[in-house]
Amino acid sequence: MAAYDQLHVFFFPMMAQGHMIPTLDLAKLFASRGVRATIITTPRNQHVFSDSIVKATQLGGRIQIVVLDFPAVQAGLPEGCERLDLAPDDLVPNFHAACAMLQEPLEQLLQQHRPDCLVADMFFPWATDAAAKFHVPRLVFHGVSYIALCAWYNLRVHDPFKNVSSDCEPVPIPNLPHDIRLTRLQLSPVDRGLLDSYSGELMKQVRESDVASYGVIFNSFYELEREYADYYTNILGIKAWPVGPLSLRINAESRAERGDKPSMDEHQCLKWLDSKAPNSIVYICFGSGMASFAPNQLRELAVGIESSGLGFVWVIRKGRDEEAENNNEKWMPEGFEERTKERGLVIRGWAPQVVILDHQAVGAFVTHCGWNSTLEGVCAGVPFVTWPMCAEQFYNEKLVTEVLKTGVGVGSKKWMRSGNDGVESAAIAEAMKRVMMVESEELRSRAKAYKEMAKKAIEEGGSSYCGLTALLDELTTLHHSSRKH
Ligand code: UDP
Repeated sequence: MAAYDQLHVFFFPMMAQGHMIPTLDLAKLFASRGVRATIITTPRNQHVFSDSIVKATQLGGRIQIVVLDFPAVQAGLPEGCERLDLAPDDLVPNFHAACAMLQEPLEQLLQQHRPDCLVADMFFPWATDAAAKFHVPRLVFHGVSYIALCAWYNLRVHDPFKNVSSDCEPVPIPNLPHDIRLTRLQLSPVDRGLLDSYSGELMKQVRESDVASYGVIFNSFYELEREYADYYTNILGIKAWPVGPLSLRINAESRAERGDKPSMDEHQCLKWLDSKAPNSIVYICFGSGMASFAPNQLRELAVGIESSGLGFVWVIRKGRDEEAENNNEKWMPEGFEERTKERGLVIRGWAPQVVILDHQAVGAFVTHCGWNSTLEGVCAGVPFVTWPMCAEQFYNEKLVTEVLKTGVGVGSKKWMRSGNDGVESAAIAEAMKRVMMVESEELRSRAKAYKEMAKKAIEEGGSSYCGLTALLDELTTLHHSSRKH
């Protein structure tokens, strides 16, 4: 354990569940190798880390938390809006502006503590300058896949949509190891050049800070994205360490409470799943709430689930305030829960996702392809029904359906953060049946193979284990040379 106990590393995740959860796992991973870890966060996000750290007794107090005030009101956000998913679409730039105001307090922390390294979120490009002032190496933590970053790079460099008139024509992204095709509608507004200058500028800074930083840590493992990991290092020329899947390392006590307190007790969920046959249940969940559905789409989903005839656990998220229509559930077909009560469980709010996915009754995962959910599904060895909505999820879908071949798409056609719509109930039911019945054998056997590779990757001698060792060795060398000067 003591191998790296001279090192002190700061971790600074963006305030969104999909960023804080893996960063906490990452800090724990470093601490498990002896490193002293300090996580920086804001008052209303402190609980995401503190409860879990208290439970991580075997880490012997090696992780601590530092809290910085979040200037929400100063940046034009409602009081207490300290998480990205709580910011309405039109205030997302304000949220990022509030984050950037944390540069100065971050610098004070770095000056005071002089850590050996700062691992800061991709969305904090200003952290590179802050770290440079105090000669602290800054690593970028990308909560996203290699494939997404490689695709973004080639979209930017080659602009393959330049002479394409149709928004619906699938266009190959040049130079990638596989023939990956997307339509213009599936690109984010930044990639389509449609966004306001603030967001475009932020993404430009994100890219520049990748290059200017000491290197990039990936929550992925080499065997999962082999060609893209090589492409990233060799063609983009950026130093990178894959150290995941991070969710595989979490200890039993923390598994049920990741991010938030579950709305349904873990044991209640498990008891229900225990009563079901192996591989008979479809788990349906669309992440922490960064994207939302239109009420009509939620109705189509309910109809699709019911008409599939399959068993299910469906997590219905309580939306942002402006989504009152979703929250009052007027879209829910009358009598849905009564008719499906023998075969279905509805969880309103936050589910103990990792615990559910790992249960033997779960036979498929309907997911929005958020990178954490994708990896958690890979670790559980379940095949996917893919339904990307926004962020980099359309690239992750391609990885799952066309590279790994462990899933089937539902036919999501358009990148949208709010009010997603357009997938019909029949397509939903059909994709679920394909994965659970028609193609289940091939999909499941490939999914199981990746599960085994994930386990091996994090074991001593595995690719991610060695990746972290290489990084920690480098930081140790830097530590000694900085102490000499
Ligand atoms: N999650 C959870 N319970 C829920 C919804 C989400 O534990 O009811 C966790 C999930 O396990 C994952 C994270 O929240 O670790 C969501 O991250 P992801 O990258 O999949 O999606 P995002 O929310 O960032 O779009």
